[in-house]
Amino acid sequence: MRTVDEHLADILGSVAVLPPLDLALLEAQGAVLAEPVSAPVPLPPFDNSAMDGYAVVAADIAAATETDPVALPVVGDIAAGDTGVSAIRPGLTARIMTGAPLPAGADAVIPVEWTDGGNATVLISRAAPPGHYIRRAGEDVSAGQVVVAAGTRLAAPQLGMIAAVGRSRVTVRPRPRVVVVATGDELREPGDPLAPGQIWESNAYMLTAAVVEAGGVGYRQATVEDEPGRVLEMLEDQLARADAIVTTGGVSMGTRDVVKEVLSGTGTVGFHKVRMRPGKPQGFGLLQGTPVFTLPGNPVSAYVSFQVFVRPALRAMQGLEPEPLPKVSAVLAEDVKSPPGLRHYLRAELSFSNGSHTVTAAESQGSHQLGSLASANALIELPEDVEAVPAGSHVEVMRLPS
Ligand code: AMP
Ligand code: MG
Repeated sequence: MRTVDEHLADILGSVAVLPPLDLALLEAQGAVLAEPVSAPVPLPPFDNSAMDGYAVVAADIAAATETDPVALPVVGDIAAGDTGVSAIRPGLTARIMTGAPLPAGADAVIPVEWTDGGNATVLISRAAPPGHYIRRAGEDVSAGQVVVAAGTRLAAPQLGMIAAVGRSRVTVRPRPRVVVVATGDELREPGDPLAPGQIWESNAYMLTAAVVEAGGVGYRQATVEDEPGRVLEMLEDQLARADAIVTTGGVSMGTRDVVKEVLSGTGTVGFHKVRMRPGKPQGFGLLQGTPVFTLPGNPVSAYVSFQVFVRPALRAMQGLEPEPLPKVSAVLAEDVKSPPGLRHYLRAELSFSNGSHTVTAAESQGSHQLGSLASANALIELPEDVEAVPAGSHVEVMRLPS
């Protein structure tokens, strides 16, 4: 028997950060930036107009009012994207569009709504101070500034920022490609009819989705029967393309625990009883350098094992802190009991009211009872030395991804 912490330490000591990869921007979505990205030029790169309107010398229109507008001759039109150099002299104005470069000599922009919109001459009916509706060069980002730090997962705003500083490619830690395979003669595909004694395969769907939630790319493979040759064949096929492999089923003490049978003594794979509930039978090791996680078959055991062991490992492979799911401290609404010597994960309902978190354990805690996991939003984590926790106590709670 080993503890949860010992098993996790073994795993984290074996997995390596994925080598960096140079990717086109949209291919890098969800990956973790492996270099700091900085701006080669200030943003905006030049002073420009924040409105559609007229570029003026503010002093020229200082006396403008609704009843006594100031008339200025319009000397030209400046559109966004105009590359020519333009200038105005005092007493003149140019029509200007949002994003167009401010002409030399102008120090304010008057929005078209404050004017009669004139073409040859414009009547301006409100005064404005110097700097009005001008976006200054560098007021967003200065030249040389790091705009996205290394170690940031790239979501839409970061991808926009990187494009805005002119980069079409970035160096990232790729999302780990994780192959997920269920094993078991009793398993049928959802959508297919069941014969007596059969059930629909659910773990590989659940774990493939959990891989994506942890930042990886999940590939659900066809279920493998409890036959040693088939299990080996599947592993050999998948090793070439996977950064990690997750199996479920076939690792406990039955006569058909074929994953354990096939992998015991292969590569560095070892099988252990881990002091936890649910999820006691665990296997982990490297096969030709690829991490292989053999999770138990009971659906809730498989899910909890994933969050406790696989998720931190996938984060480590992306160069991130191998953190568990985010935790909060919550007040227990009802008494709970816990098996001595085991880390206990209880499906629970976490709620927030009057400034504090309250948590209630689900009634059904069997490791086959997926129903109570599907309606839970959290896992209460009770340490090994705890046997009974009275209502009103503070407990640590992991929030499930939603
Ligand atoms: P095993 O670890 O293979 O002995 O499986 C333990 C229990 O989990 C058995 O009741 C299996 O039928 C069930 N089980 C195993 N794999 C899956 C799966 N992929 N989907 C749903 N139930 C499963
Ligand atoms: Mg099985």
